[in-house]
Amino acid sequence: MQSLLLRASQRLLVTTRVGGSPRTVLNRVSPRPRTFHASVSRRTEAKPSFKKCPVCSQPLLSSVPACNKCWNIFALPKDITHHELLGLNYDPNPFIIDVPTLKKRFRDAQSVCHPDSWASRNPEKQEVAQALSARVNHAYQALLDPLLRAEYILDCNQFHIAESDSVQDMMFMAEIMDARETIDEAEEPLQVEGLFEENEDKIAETVKELETLFGERDFAAAKGAAIRLRYLTGIRRAAKRWLDNH
Ligand SMILES: [Zn+2]
Repeated sequence: MQSLLLRASQRLLVTTRVGGSPRTVLNRVSPRPRTFHASVSRRTEAKPSFKKCPVCSQPLLSSVPACNKCWNIFALPKDITHHELLGLNYDPNPFIIDVPTLKKRFRDAQSVCHPDSWASRNPEKQEVAQALSARVNHAYQALLDPLLRAEYILDCNQFHIAESDSVQDMMFMAEIMDARETIDEAEEPLQVEGLFEENEDKIAETVKELETLFGERDFAAAKGAAIRLRYLTGIRRAAKRWLDNH
């Protein structure tokens, strides 16, 4: 596997060869074309991918290519995965995320690329910091929420969930319609609270199921479970909204 550090160094070398200004470093040098899916399947490491700054060789605090010793910052390759960006394992099971580790990696990453830290640097660096920070935020949100995480992993494996995708299980759909009706017609908070708790149990079961299915790389079945999770999440939202307003 080609490490991010190596990829950044190569980008740096390319830059040196074209001999450009910092703008060249940051904007013109694009990563070599590589396929997204190939890079996903090869990810195995858990450690942050950038270990040392490619310019000053100081150890980096996080997996993002930003050094606040020599104040150099690099744009990311477009095909970097959320897992890779936050230094998390994709294999053996990309769906299993240790949330405290995710949160720590997120904080570490933001501490070095947050635009506030780069506010006194040149505009090109500020721009890269902004993009990097937005990317880190997006990756964090997508991995933190089980539904978004499932959708992301499915996307990575060409099992995109479309708006029009529905559940084939008629029993499940009948339960969802019943739950909607209960919320719409509820008069007592107790009714909605009971339904909310039941729904939370179903969410927990479905998340467990997704863990197993992603572990088995059964993406077709995982897609079905993720669509069910989407409906259950909709019920959670509707129940919360009802309880907030009553
Ligand atoms: Zn450095």
